[in-house]
Amino acid sequence: MEIKRTKIVDIFDPALIGQKVCVKGWVRTRRGNKNVQFVALNDGSTIKNIQIVIDLAKFSEEQLKPITTGSSLHVEGMLVASQGKGQTSEIQAETIEIYGTADSETYPLQKKGHTLEFLREKAHLRPRTNTFGAVLRVRSALAFAIHRFFQERGFFYLHTPLITASDCEGAGAMFQVTTLNLNDLPKDEETGKIDYSQDFFGKQTSLTVSGQLEGELGATALGAIYTFGPTFRAENSNTPRHLAEFWMIEPEVAFNDITDNMDLAEDFVKYCIGYALDNCRDDIEFLQQMYDKQLIERLNFVLHNDFVRLPYTEGIKILEASGKKFEFPVKWGIDLQSEHERYLVEEHFKRPVILTDYPKEIKAFYMKLNEDGKTVRAMDVLFPNIGEIIGGSEREESYDKLMTRIEELNIPMKDMWWYLDTRRFGTVPHSGFGLGFERLVLFVTGMTNIRDVIPFPRTPKNAEF
Ligand code: ATP
Ligand code: MN
Repeated sequence: MEIKRTKIVDIFDPALIGQKVCVKGWVRTRRGNKNVQFVALNDGSTIKNIQIVIDLAKFSEEQLKPITTGSSLHVEGMLVASQGKGQTSEIQAETIEIYGTADSETYPLQKKGHTLEFLREKAHLRPRTNTFGAVLRVRSALAFAIHRFFQERGFFYLHTPLITASDCEGAGAMFQVTTLNLNDLPKDEETGKIDYSQDFFGKQTSLTVSGQLEGELGATALGAIYTFGPTFRAENSNTPRHLAEFWMIEPEVAFNDITDNMDLAEDFVKYCIGYALDNCRDDIEFLQQMYDKQLIERLNFVLHNDFVRLPYTEGIKILEASGKKFEFPVKWGIDLQSEHERYLVEEHFKRPVILTDYPKEIKAFYMKLNEDGKTVRAMDVLFPNIGEIIGGSEREESYDKLMTRIEELNIPMKDMWWYLDTRRFGTVPHSGFGLGFERLVLFVTGMTNIRDVIPFPRTPKNAEF
């Protein structure tokens, strides 16, 4: 009778030594000599492999031939303390069933040393590598930590729509959603423009760039909500920090002002980082060893230091006084570029910075206007190596002031009456922010390209897999 399978993550329990065990997984490597063969088996439950020791007195060459890198096995045998260095226990194989072979001529993941660029072309198989196994386990743990953080604090998980008819958020270019025949579009006879009344929703629709506006509807009813879902931006910029499809977390809280919002953002990212350090130690240590020797030091540093809180205007003064030659010249009113953000964080303060009170011209219409009439209560959280990880604000709760901004900016509000109702009926001060999930995963894993922290990246000219 087949014994119950033990996941490899659980197999290193010393209490199991001396017992007959069953493991299943994929072969990472095989080596050995004429008398004994060693197979490193991994089942994805942990970065660690279990060593299978195969005595050639018990198995024939012919039986072992299909056991190559990438093949999948079911092994039963005795778990014994290991003599080899670097591992605590190993399995002396008694039976081996081969589920599937992996032809060594064609299986792309032979041994080690593939570049991350090569692996991006093999994104369907790269989860089987140590690096992507580690990244994807950390990603999963961070997703859980996010829900835990908010649920423990009484926030409700609100599902905001992915298909939207509002095009005023301005967070980025949108992907259109349509069932119209693009080769034969219905046109309005008078204007010659596309007649969207014949489209599926009877109007022009797109994939959402942010769940915030609907999030505000939730917050002004349930008090505190968060969203956690996919977001789409047709940003035609090939950067290591932008995806066309990414996941965003957007808490929104009634009665929170900008200071509460900063406190929430800081507590939140620290909680997530601490959770990963406590629960993904093996994976993070592996990533540190492979890619980024300062990783754990940097995570602990962020965890144990207060973030700097600085008005934009002060930030501009520091940049002007720095004497540095930036590619984009600095003056009050500019939208900060990555080089400016990184100077403040990495060179000047050497810790995360929350920059606040940006000029209203470079921020969204819904942000609360300060008394100076020039700046808004925006807050961007800037991180070492990443730049902006969070963008948020206190929202303008005054109907009149909000309408003034909408008119100044000529924002098409015809489909936005429902948003304005939050300000017409029982308006309250409220605040929120958006965290780009992949930017958090980048920071925690020490990876440097956002394409390597999501299983199947979507970027310009790339929607493979
Ligand atoms: P950036 O200036 O980096 O493009 P943004 O100002 O457009 O960011 P927001 O609209 O404030 O960003 O979105 C909130 C958060 O979502 C950002 O702080 C960032 O972490 C993340 N984010 C924004 N755009 C992308 C993207 N294309 N891919 C991945 N994450 C993104
Ligand atoms: Mn952007």
